[in-house]
Amino acid sequence: MKSKLCYQCRKTKTLDQFYNSCLNKDGLQNMCKECSLDNNRKYRKKHPDYYWGNENSYFRRKYQEKVVDYQNERSKATDNCSIIKVETEDGIWLAATRRRPSLFINSKKQEWNINQRHTDKFKSNFQRYLCSKEKKIAFKILDNYQVIKQFKGTMKDAYAQRILIQNELKSKGVKVF
Ligand SMILES: [Zn+2]
Repeated sequence: MKSKLCYQCRKTKTLDQFYNSCLNKDGLQNMCKECSLDNNRKYRKKHPDYYWGNENSYFRRKYQEKVVDYQNERSKATDNCSIIKVETEDGIWLAATRRRPSLFINSKKQEWNINQRHTDKFKSNFQRYLCSKEKKIAFKILDNYQVIKQFKGTMKDAYAQRILIQNELKSKGVKVF
């Protein structure tokens, strides 16, 4: 395998250790990948304003665009809004979802698995309840969910419906999570 000398660390490395560059005859950068990444890291540390400083900085602009995309996506109406009810021995757990309930439940199971490893990081009502239970019991509860309402709407509509049902149940003296 052919190799090339990195002008920065002065080590001879195989060609796959160099990024492509159209500026050089051999089509590769003069410094190795390791040095290139290292330089980027140092540059970001040296110029924090460019990346994080003001509203126009690189990461803030990038992040903001993602937030807007996300909000637009969530505000679109879909046919998949559901209110899910799970009966537990302590009360009723309600959830609003815009996905197929099974997908939502599976992602909750995954969250629960992660939660086992990072207990402090997840503190939703759902987690608070499940944290005190054995995994098997928790999953059994999730497998016995009921869809109590299905409609077309936005995420906002789904939350509003959940609050409505929650208040209705509470007024009947039911404990709701
Ligand atoms: Zn190097």
